[in-house]
Amino acid sequence: MKLNQNYANLKDSYLFSTIAKKAAAHIEANSNAEVIRLGIGDVTRPLPAAAIEAMQGAVTDMSQAATFKGYGPEQGYPFLREAIRDYYATKGVTLDANEIFVGDGAKSDIGNILDIFAKDNNVIIPDPVYPAYLDANVMDGRPIYYIQGNEENGFLPMPGAIEAQNIKPHIIYMCSPNNPTGATYNKEQLKAWVDYALANKAVILFDAAYECFITNDSLPTSIFEIEGATKCAIEICSLSKVAGFTGVRCGYTIISKELVVDGTSLAAMWLRRQTTKFNGVSYIVQKGAAAALSPEGLKQCRENVEYYLENAKLISKTLTELGIWHTSGNAPYIWLKCPQGLSSWEFFDKLLAEANIVGTPGAGFGSCGEGFFRLSAFNTRENVEKAMERIRKVF
Ligand code: PLP
Repeated sequence: MKLNQNYANLKDSYLFSTIAKKAAAHIEANSNAEVIRLGIGDVTRPLPAAAIEAMQGAVTDMSQAATFKGYGPEQGYPFLREAIRDYYATKGVTLDANEIFVGDGAKSDIGNILDIFAKDNNVIIPDPVYPAYLDANVMDGRPIYYIQGNEENGFLPMPGAIEAQNIKPHIIYMCSPNNPTGATYNKEQLKAWVDYALANKAVILFDAAYECFITNDSLPTSIFEIEGATKCAIEICSLSKVAGFTGVRCGYTIISKELVVDGTSLAAMWLRRQTTKFNGVSYIVQKGAAAALSPEGLKQCRENVEYYLENAKLISKTLTELGIWHTSGNAPYIWLKCPQGLSSWEFFDKLLAEANIVGTPGAGFGSCGEGFFRLSAFNTRENVEKAMERIRKVF
């Protein structure tokens, strides 16, 4: 018996444990400190009423023999796949419900989709970005190459960054709007990526987890808004941010029938993988997800999204007044440049010590995040207002 030696190459993720330890030590040393946490990427508002009612109805279904459900279809119930298809129709994207695969969240699919790719594929990962892309590929031992996001390119690296390194791209991760920077690709930029992937026979894994926060109507919320994407991209998304399902767990992956590599359909491979290793998302959760994506449910989701976006605006307004460089607008995150030339962790310490605020050091999302910092808008209005007052006093 041999273990997967690739696990030895994983770097311990100290980010959130270090944050928690530092915050706990601060609270212990300052018994009266009322710490406000603007570090967490998790929703805080309750689920939309439509989802709650539907899940309660689904529990009742389970209580009666006539409506009881056992194993469901591995790909997801047709009612949910059709609701997702209709949600995409509102974006102007036409999908067949058979191209939609329901899962238990974006994180699982981001890792699991790698089962259908060879382990010697070159993987391209933006820096900074959501850390799961990196670790899922380290576990498989794939060669990993970074493309840099920085102030100059608006944290939106373009294909030239791969060409400059003379790498043959196979799997390209994209996250738009990006976690942590909130940077969002426009249509021309995404078209350039799609054209590049097609020309190089690469596959784009497009993480659209934050699509619901895009406020600028001209920006694409799905890569399938771009011509040619059906032949080179897989989109992974979830109900976590749009409907507050982080604790409920429901997501989906979209693979077009047109995505074919050397005569093999990637959708067929993914279906084979899922029917072998996955037994579907619970009926109750799928009922809730479909209700959240109904017209009434989406109205309720929108109210929550607007609430977070209003928090983000308050944070942005304060930073603008203080002359602190930052990006905001299409994400529940504010990405700021640490003032006074501080490093990410120095700024973390200062904010905690002087303002009793916890944020997330940008360096935790990749080396290009050093010198930057992420503030989250997932909180109550009251806490955000209080936190901004404190930041004004300190800076
Ligand atoms: N993708 C990105 C960019 C994220 O930031 C997150 C979670 O914060 C996820 C995926 C995971 O989402 P899910 O809750 O659907 O697993």
